[in-house]
Amino acid sequence: QKFVYDFTEGNRDLKDLLGGKGANLAEMTNLGLPVPPGFTITTEACKVYLDSGEEPAALRDEVSAHLVALETTMGKKLGQADDPLLVSVRSGAKFSMPGMMDTVLNIGLSDDSVVGLAAQAGDERFAWDSYRRLIQMFGKTVLGVDGELFEEALESAKHAKGVTVDVDLDAGDLRKLVDEFKGIVAKETGRDFPQDAREQMDLAVRAVFDSWNTDRAKLYRRQERIPGDLGTAVNVCSMVFGNLGPDSGTGVAFTRDPASGQQGVYGDYLQNAQGEDVVAGIRNTVPLADLEGIDKPSYDELMRIMETLETHYKDLCDIEFTIERGKLWMLQTRVGKRTAGAAFRIATQLVDQGLIDEAEALQRVNGAQLAQLMFPRFDESAAVEKIGRGIAASPGAAVGKAVFDSYTAVKWSRSGEKVILIRRETNPDDLNGMIAAEGILTSRGGKTSHAAVVARGMGKTCVCGAEELEVDTKRRCLTTKDGTVVQEGDVVSIDGSSGKVYLGEVPVVPSPVVEYFEGRMHAGADDADELVKAVHRIMAYADRVRRLRVRANADNAEDAARARRFGAQGIGLCRTEHMFLGERREMVERLILADTEADRDAALDGLLPLQKADFTELFEAMDGLPVTVRLLDPPLHEFLPDITELSVRVALAEARQDANENDLRLLQAVHKLHEQNPMLGLRGVRLGLVIPGLFAMQVRAIAEAAAERKNAKGDPRAEIMIPLVGTVQELEIVREEAERVIAEVEQARGVNLRLTLGTMIELPRAALTAGQIAESADFFSFGTNDLTQTVWGFSRDDVEASFFTAYLEKGIFGVSPFETIDRDGVGSLVRSAAEAGRATRPDLKLGVCGEHGGDPDSVHFFHEVGLDYVSCSPFRIPVARLEAGRAAA
Ligand code: ADP
Ligand code: MG
Ligand code: MG
Repeated sequence: QKFVYDFTEGNRDLKDLLGGKGANLAEMTNLGLPVPPGFTITTEACKVYLDSGEEPAALRDEVSAHLVALETTMGKKLGQADDPLLVSVRSGAKFSMPGMMDTVLNIGLSDDSVVGLAAQAGDERFAWDSYRRLIQMFGKTVLGVDGELFEEALESAKHAKGVTVDVDLDAGDLRKLVDEFKGIVAKETGRDFPQDAREQMDLAVRAVFDSWNTDRAKLYRRQERIPGDLGTAVNVCSMVFGNLGPDSGTGVAFTRDPASGQQGVYGDYLQNAQGEDVVAGIRNTVPLADLEGIDKPSYDELMRIMETLETHYKDLCDIEFTIERGKLWMLQTRVGKRTAGAAFRIATQLVDQGLIDEAEALQRVNGAQLAQLMFPRFDESAAVEKIGRGIAASPGAAVGKAVFDSYTAVKWSRSGEKVILIRRETNPDDLNGMIAAEGILTSRGGKTSHAAVVARGMGKTCVCGAEELEVDTKRRCLTTKDGTVVQEGDVVSIDGSSGKVYLGEVPVVPSPVVEYFEGRMHAGADDADELVKAVHRIMAYADRVRRLRVRANADNAEDAARARRFGAQGIGLCRTEHMFLGERREMVERLILADTEADRDAALDGLLPLQKADFTELFEAMDGLPVTVRLLDPPLHEFLPDITELSVRVALAEARQDANENDLRLLQAVHKLHEQNPMLGLRGVRLGLVIPGLFAMQVRAIAEAAAERKNAKGDPRAEIMIPLVGTVQELEIVREEAERVIAEVEQARGVNLRLTLGTMIELPRAALTAGQIAESADFFSFGTNDLTQTVWGFSRDDVEASFFTAYLEKGIFGVSPFETIDRDGVGSLVRSAAEAGRATRPDLKLGVCGEHGGDPDSVHFFHEVGLDYVSCSPFRIPVARLEAGRAAA
């Protein structure tokens, strides 16, 4: 096993082994781009280290061999006193984890070699600046010294000299600072800053390995669902220097605007600076376009390289570069993060440029992004005071109470408050607060600042660099240009698409993408929104290739009509319990209380016409498309008054001696129906079997509504669904009765209704005996909510609030099984039940209703196991269509 790869040996497909940064450094090297030479230590080496606590035995020699090769190429040795080779030691996991892992620059400097470096560069200031940076970064990330101590020493050096930026410190100042920094290291760690270059390197490599398991790295991985056992690679890269004077500098660039997808020159540049100065917002950067005026040849070369990269990767790339005395060096590239809107626009632009095809375009977007684009936006015309404007870093419209630290953000959001986290700038320690907040506002930093990058990754609204707002985290307030003070707890609104910041709550309006789905905005119009055009095209690609049909969960005509506009191909779940609420509840009460057949029939007769009218409307709204109606499912007590309330009422009445006969009977019934585990009690098909006439009434209502639509020349396609079946016998009994009722209606009305009868598969026993159940069912609809509940033994009404957070934190699962289908457990039952059902009845129709029908990952699973359709809430339909297309493409 080989643990070290030279940059010339790798390529971009080796991300598992070399990490993203290493694989792309190799790719750029092989493209002939100017990358400083170096090598990558593999994630395998990291894994060995994390498992055993020690580097693999062979690593040291392999590193030595690569180091010698690097030294030969560069013509100098690591840390050599008169002319030192310096390197950076950089982390780089498979998935980019911004700011999560640590990088150390200028390794190889010591009390001796700093003098050599100064002589070689002819610049003492530069050498001492590099050395103090090394001690600072090394001290903080490798030796674990509190970074504030170095920051404070730097601040007081500037203060003593009466300057505000580090470039105004001269060689002598920096040399003194180096002494101070070394003193801090000695004091804090009890040992001197290591002078041996190789020891520096080895310690830094180990620190990178260790950084994989810091709390904030773990938290980020959980958030982003990155597996915890991948490990990180380590890149050792020869240094190039952006801090060698005004003809040097460092910058970041995007090949397109990551916020809108527009082509152009996007990025930031900082003269006479090294590494993370740009991202950290230490000094003010200039827009990348200004580089043209500063150093035209480097600028032109950068533009050419960006074009090469975009054509090569066929996607938006982001780039880190450094210019050392007029020579351009590429330090990093990767396919860049982007906003949801940009993702859609870039995908269609790349199709137009002929760089990718439609199937590939579908892989460049996802359902979560589409869902994000469907969020409402702020109403610009609202009379709410605008107090500032920053950079639109991550879109969305967020409203919440101002908080000025992460701790408060978490605390308040736990107690149900919506909060906006306001910071001067964020750092990785703010991650918890960023997750808890509705949105993030910073007064410093650009599009590539920590806040911006992380928020975009999380899909969270962010406005950054609102410089006219003065943030005072100590006093917990923010002061605007005209002196208005926003205190902790005041409501603010931030618009991540425009960068505007408001004091107060701004009302929201629907997104153009929703307007488009609603049919109120047309993609074909010349002046159509660019985003709407892109979404329209991507949806068309998805619809063209997908095999899964998409239906809606809807139980009234209004939802059905919206679902149809959103592209639903029928209703997969019409719940009938909602039809029994409101003023109809009284009739249900009568039904439950009936002690004679006559009473019961009277109650059912009262409900029949109401149900029928509901169905008629629904069949009309879904004319020509299937409508699956589920017979009554919930436990009956849900229709009765609350047991405690009613007991109190009756007790009070009895004390007054005017207890009402009906209340007494009701109370009796409530007691009788009370269950310890109602979700496992008298509900679903069990109700149909013990309450005579209930299911028959519902079937009759469906049949008569269908007959009426037929007579009105409509095309009703009703499917009757029996819930909570555990054995085929239950289904047979209900089926017999239903068929009798349907036959009666057909005869009376003289029509052939072609109603089908099927069942939900939502109990483990049903899934396990699906082959038998299929004998009596025309279709299965997997009720994956109840199936998850019963397979795991999780009460879904309780567990999410009680212990799921602990489970997620412990990594028992990365996502709630109620949100994304548990493939191994619940999913395997779905798969085997589908197979068994089809073995009995090859034309068995298979679908899924339940929350999972609109969840991207789950949709892919249902595609794989060969279901015919998914059903989800009307608003999720576009997401399901898109994901079904992505699964098939
Ligand atoms: P991150 O993953 O946090 O971006 P990097 O490893 O990319 O960490 O490095 C941090 C900063 O240091 C970046 O700005 C990068 O460009 C710069 N840098 C890294 N290696 C070198 C090098 N060999 N020479 C000059 N600058 C470097
Ligand atoms: Mg980087
Ligand atoms: Mg159910």
